[in-house]
Amino acid sequence: MRLSELYAPTLREAPRDLDPPGQQALARAGLFRLLDAVPGAGAALLPAGQIAVDRLAATLITAISAPVPQPIALPQPPGEATTADLVIALLARDLRSYRELPLLLSARTTAITAAPRARLGLLAAREEPALELWLAAARDGLEPALERITDALRRALRGLGAATDRVAAPAPSGHLGERWVARDLTDALAIAWCPACDVRSVASLAPVTPVPRPATDPGPWRAVATPDQRTVEEVAAYLGQTPADLLKTLIVEADGALVAALIPGDRDLSLDKLGALLGARTLRLAPDAAVVAATGAPVGFAGPVGLALPIVADRAAAPRTAWTTGGNARDVHHLDVSPGRDFVAMHMADIVAFEDRDPCPVCSAARSARAGLGLARIDRFGTAPADRVALTVDGASGGAEPVGLVRVRVRLARLLGAIAEAATTDRGLVWPARAAPWDVAVVGLGAAGDAVSAAAGTLAMALEARGLAILRDDRDLRPGQKLGDAETMGHPLIAVVGRRGLERGVFELRRRGRGDVVEIALDDAVERVLAERAQEVGA
Ligand SMILES: [Zn+2]
Repeated sequence: MRLSELYAPTLREAPRDLDPPGQQALARAGLFRLLDAVPGAGAALLPAGQIAVDRLAATLITAISAPVPQPIALPQPPGEATTADLVIALLARDLRSYRELPLLLSARTTAITAAPRARLGLLAAREEPALELWLAAARDGLEPALERITDALRRALRGLGAATDRVAAPAPSGHLGERWVARDLTDALAIAWCPACDVRSVASLAPVTPVPRPATDPGPWRAVATPDQRTVEEVAAYLGQTPADLLKTLIVEADGALVAALIPGDRDLSLDKLGALLGARTLRLAPDAAVVAATGAPVGFAGPVGLALPIVADRAAAPRTAWTTGGNARDVHHLDVSPGRDFVAMHMADIVAFEDRDPCPVCSAARSARAGLGLARIDRFGTAPADRVALTVDGASGGAEPVGLVRVRVRLARLLGAIAEAATTDRGLVWPARAAPWDVAVVGLGAAGDAVSAAAGTLAMALEARGLAILRDDRDLRPGQKLGDAETMGHPLIAVVGRRGLERGVFELRRRGRGDVVEIALDDAVERVLAERAQEVGA
């Protein structure tokens, strides 16, 4: 490829609208631009960025050998549908026999960031290209096939210069999800980390073990007046209790239907856990008017006794415990409310949000909250009761056999951004050989039509003929400008063809990863550059 035909505007200075050094370097290298003039638009990939993303996707796909990924193209899911709905619909139509499994489909899709941050560039772009792999397998074959795929992908990611930690994203429904997180890269994803046994979970879904309350068989519940006491803290203090003695009732709207969520007064509700438990697509705290209509009381006084809503209670609200709850009337609370006796919960599950220092469920050590950036995630479908997937095929013994479905989704722009952060030092951006948009840059320091340009062109074509991706700077610019751009663009290997070298039959190969320069005879050029490239990739 010729640089004169590539729209790759480089920048001399670090752009002021980006914070992370790697994102500044990517923008300087002409890989992407923030579309500042259109508020909220986010970032656009330029040709070099698109080429880089395509190469990353190709590297990941070719890393997987069994089952072989087969490309499909999916339409944009309409309305509230997801790509999972599309894939399930596709497979439900034609998948017939266990003999067709395991099946691995790959699709390029668009991923949306819930809380985009323009200043973080590709690390938090509003919209970005993603690679989705969909594995359909009989239940026995699902996990072994997934392990082969994830092993290959994680090896490939390491080779690309993106170190990730596996972080469990469990859900009470039985989904065993997982995220691959670049630790400390941004604070986009909160992680519950156990320093003792290294168990890591996405904080919003991290299991929380309830603090046991003393078993008791309280007398009948009774109402007490709590005039002008609004917050949990106020009510607890007024009654001579602690917030942990209260059971808060939060009214939540799940896919349009109201549900009451009961949690200890000193904890926060995890909407993610509740959503996963209910299999709800949209979940939010109900608007005040809906709470008033459902409970007959102002917001803040909802309680489970006599409440005509389905109830989901945290595991802390075990039978034979006593709690203080809202009384479904202004300035009224109930004392000695006992779960199971005074109200019945539809679900009893872990629905509270993780907090720093919550004990690890495996080893009981205090966990800490860490942060990172999710580069990939794995989600299972069709393996839990809450799933709405009912894919089956004809099994070996003739009966219907359920099909498990797993999606592996890699965020390609974040991946590019994460690689750039790791590859940017005070010397600037230097791509790891496997992640570079081009294998070698060829810079001819001559003028159009002269012998130096011709020699650079010949070298570039000879290398391209051997399968290397080459970017040749054939522009009619001063040498300093061309060499400066080649460095700004982060090429790991830069072949420089100049007049004096040409007279001696040699050119310079700048090995930017090592920070040195070697002289190579033009006669020997192709084999030597191939060997250098192989060494870079192997390193
Ligand atoms: Zn632990």
